[in-house]
Formats: sequence, structure tokens, C-alpha cells
Amino acid sequence: MSEEFLSELRSIVGAAGLLTERSEMGAFVTDWTGRFTGSALAVVRPASTPEVAATIKACAARGVALVPQGGNTGLVGGSVPISDRPAVVLSLARMSKVDDVRPGERTLRAEAGAVIDTVNAAAEAHGLRFPLAFGATGSATVGGALSTNAGGANVLRFGNARELCLGLEVVLVDGTVVDTGSGLRKDNTGYDLRDLFIGAEGTLGIITAATLKLFPQAAVRWTGFLSLASLESALAVLNRLRDEAPGDVEMFEYMPAHAVDLVCKHFPNLRAPLAESAETGVLVEIASTSARDAMEENGEPRLNAGIFEVLERLLEDGLVLDAMIAQSGQQRSELISLREHVLESLQAEAAWYHYDIALRLDDVAPFLAAVRARLQAEGLASPSHVIGHLGDGNLHFSVTRDDTLPRVHDVVYGLVREMHGSFSAEHGIGSAKRSDLERYKDTGAYRVFVDLKRSLDPDGLLNPGVMVGPRDSAEAMRVRGLVTLP
Ligand SMILES: Cc1cc2nc3c(=O)[nH]c(=O)nc-3n(C[C@H](O)[C@H](O)[C@H](O)COP(=O)(O)OP(=O)(O)OC[C@H]3O[C@@H](n4cnc5c(N)ncnc54)[C@H](O)[C@@H]3O)c2cc1C
Repeated sequence: MSEEFLSELRSIVGAAGLLTERSEMGAFVTDWTGRFTGSALAVVRPASTPEVAATIKACAARGVALVPQGGNTGLVGGSVPISDRPAVVLSLARMSKVDDVRPGERTLRAEAGAVIDTVNAAAEAHGLRFPLAFGATGSATVGGALSTNAGGANVLRFGNARELCLGLEVVLVDGTVVDTGSGLRKDNTGYDLRDLFIGAEGTLGIITAATLKLFPQAAVRWTGFLSLASLESALAVLNRLRDEAPGDVEMFEYMPAHAVDLVCKHFPNLRAPLAESAETGVLVEIASTSARDAMEENGEPRLNAGIFEVLERLLEDGLVLDAMIAQSGQQRSELISLREHVLESLQAEAAWYHYDIALRLDDVAPFLAAVRARLQAEGLASPSHVIGHLGDGNLHFSVTRDDTLPRVHDVVYGLVREMHGSFSAEHGIGSAKRSDLERYKDTGAYRVFVDLKRSLDPDGLLNPGVMVGPRDSAEAMRVRGLVTLP
């Protein structure tokens, strides 16, 4: 690309905002999984919304694509330039201000590049919290989490990133800045544009800022590891805890013995919580914001006494077989760490394909039984390392990445479709699941996706190769009718 183009970009974002050397760009063109790597003409790092708009206009004028990037921790190959179109990485990392904290209305405004942990720290300074919780919140950003509608461990209580966002500022491909009604709790003035851009993975516009919801901090927490009688009984246990125990269930995470063993193998400082391995282990966290629940009686917070009563009945009823209860902050963080290190342990183990599927809550156990039976009948390997956010019907499991993968895929996604599930519960589509989207998404919905993409990004400049729209320049030209390919 011409020096003239790079000079124009430099004049917009300044020398500190433009990286052009291959050695400087390495970390921006390979993703967290290490499986997706590409090349970029430059990495552009704007420091303000007008700089984002000017960068997009400069690129669009030359037909250069833009790949928005936050912390580059996405898991589906959506944050690095992988299409063969000339592209720049648009890193939002310098736009990291967190301001306009309003403790009264429990909101704050964050720029897209603000890291999730930083947003939470800003909330904590006012006695509040931003609850999004997953293993990459030390690097993942507001823009990335909203663009993938990230979930994590406490969706059960607080919802996905979508539910935590009141409004967005977005820059369109023609440079128009859209404000979707930041900060309002009610706004029925037409189509909901906020929800359109959340989960769009940078294919419809660039998120530059968001107004986020904050929540009171927990006054007291109870964290424990339960061994359940069976996966079938998990929903009954969850419902009993939600209905009968004080506080709110924030985590209900499926951690069977093989997942615990795997993490302990790779992180020897962590220990299995129970002496006997739990086939159906579940990490549970219940929190209360009420000072009453935090008051001590007989040396224990009241919250604990209430939970023990329910636990006792669950043990009597045979739904829970054993329990380990965290007795200190240290024990709590060890339990949470067990869950947070599953993905890294899997990465260290082998080259897996990771499934991320959602089912109706009633269908989780029947799905696992059916998928195992079908894979076995086909002579294919069973899912390994099944974990999940059980309260959301979200299962993660892995299979070995070998030449049987396409057949495994057909079995797994065929069953997901039969059970009206989703083949991507929380990680998104990116480039990795693009063909799954074409194949498994409802046909009518997919057509609307294509129409939306054409309408908001007619030249396919925003994150090409991701989700929908032309994959590469040849296809882009074909779609635009510029060339006819066989
Ligand atoms: C160890 C680990 C654990 C994880 N656990 C979970 C989990 O439990 N639940 C879960 O849901 N996810 C999980 N994830 C994935 C999670 O979705 C991403 O980590 C995070 O949401 C992406 O944020 P990011 O800033 O890194 O975005 P990136 O990876 O940089 O980008 C992600 C996508 O968003 C787009 N994008 C980024 N910024 C913008 C912007 N400002 N405007 C428009 N588009 C943009 C990118 O183009 C890309 O398509 C995990 C990831 C890791 C590495």
C-alpha cells in the first residue's frame, strides 16, 4: 500500500497510533488460540471517536478493509485479518477511558478499549461491581465483549454482555457516529440498534463507547463444590437453591472429575476439592447484597446457615452426595481458578476442537447421552472434557482434531439442530463457524443477516471473512457483480 495512504493514516492518529513494522504487528495478526493468523497493511490505534471515523473514511476511500480488535482474546478467529483483502487492524486499545460513573443510577461510560477488569475496578471504587466474569477479563475489552456478546460464569444471575449494556456509540462504515440512546432504561423509539451491534463481531460498525450497568457488591458470598447424584438431578438442585436458599445463585458450573483432574495436572498448585472424585461436580457460588445475610450467628454468616439447611435436605433426598465449602478467600479463589483454567489446560494438552453449544435446560443431560450413543454407533470418539454453564444450558466439550472431525461435526450439530439448540452459545461465529452459520442457522434469519450486512456495509469492508458477507476480494467482487466467477 502506498506511503501516501500510510501518511494519511499517520496524520489522523499520530505516529504513536500507527504501527507498520512486521515485528510490531505480530501480536495483532495472530489470535489467542494461535490458530488464526493473517497479515495487515498496518495497525491503526485511534485515540478518539473522530479518529476512528476518519480512519474508516480513509480506508473506505481506498477499498481497504478494517478488522476491529480489542484484547484479541476471542476464540473463533474473528479478531485478526484472515481474508485476502488488503486490511488494517483497527485496535481500540488506546480508547480505554472509563468515565461518567453515576453511582446513583448505577451506570458508567467506558470507551471500547477499556479492559473488563479495569471497568470493574472503577465500579468497585464506588462500592459497585461490573459483573462480567470469564477467564480473559484481564485482557478482554468492552468493545470485544459486547461485539461477541460474551457470557461466562455468572450469566445465570446477570445475563450476557448484552444485558449489561444500556447504550452504545458506534461508527458506521461511512464515518457516521450513531448514539443508540446511552443510559436510558426505556426507549421504544423504533428499531433497537443497540442490540443490532451487540454480537455483530465488528461486521456492521465499530463500537467506540458503551454505557454499562453496575450492580451492588455482594455483602457476603458462599462458594462450594458439590458432588451431585447425576447430571439429570442438576436442574432440581439449582432450582432448590434458587427457590429456598437465601441470596442469589451466581455460578452453577459443571466441573466433572476429568476436568478437575486435567486442571490439577497442568496447574499443580490447584487441588481437587473433594477427596473422592465427583463424576458430576458442580462449582456453586451464592451471593447476597444484604447486610443481614452477612451478619454472623454462631461464628457463621447468616447466609451460610440458610444454605446449609437447604444442602442438608438435598443430601437427605440423595440429590447431593458430598460437598466442600470454601472456608476462606484463598479457598474460594482456588475453586474459581479451577474453573477458569480449564481452557488453558486443554490448550496445553492437545489440539482440540472445542464445541460451545446451548440447549434448553431440560435437554442438557439427554443431549449428552444421545450424542455419546450416536458417536459410538458411528465408531467415533466421544466428547472429552465436558464442562458447562449448567444454569444457561451451555455445554463446552472437546474432540480431537483429526480427520474424523467432519463426521463428528455432522453428528454433534445434527443433534443440536434436532433439539433446537444453538451451535454457538457464547463465543460467536468469527471465521471459524462461518460455514456452520450458513449451514445450520434458520434460513430466514440467515437471509436477514445477509441483507443487514449489505445494507450497512455494502462493500464488505468491516471484518471481511467473519460471520456473513464476502470472504475475500474475489468473492467480494462477485457479490458486487464486478466479476463473474464460475
Ligand atoms: C481464557 C479465555 C476464557 C474465555 N472464557 C469465555 C467465557 O467463559 N465466556 C465467553 O463468552 N467468552 C469467553 N472467552 C472469549 C471472549 O468472548 C472473549 O475473550 C472476549 O469477549 C473478547 O474480547 P476482546 O476485547 O479480546 O475482543 P477481540 O478478541 O479483540 O475481538 C472479538 C471480536 O469482536 C470484534 N471487536 C473487538 N472490538 C470491537 C469494537 N470495538 N467494535 C466492533 N467490533 C469489535 C473483533 O473484530 C472480533 O470479531 C474466553 C476467552 C479466553 C481467552
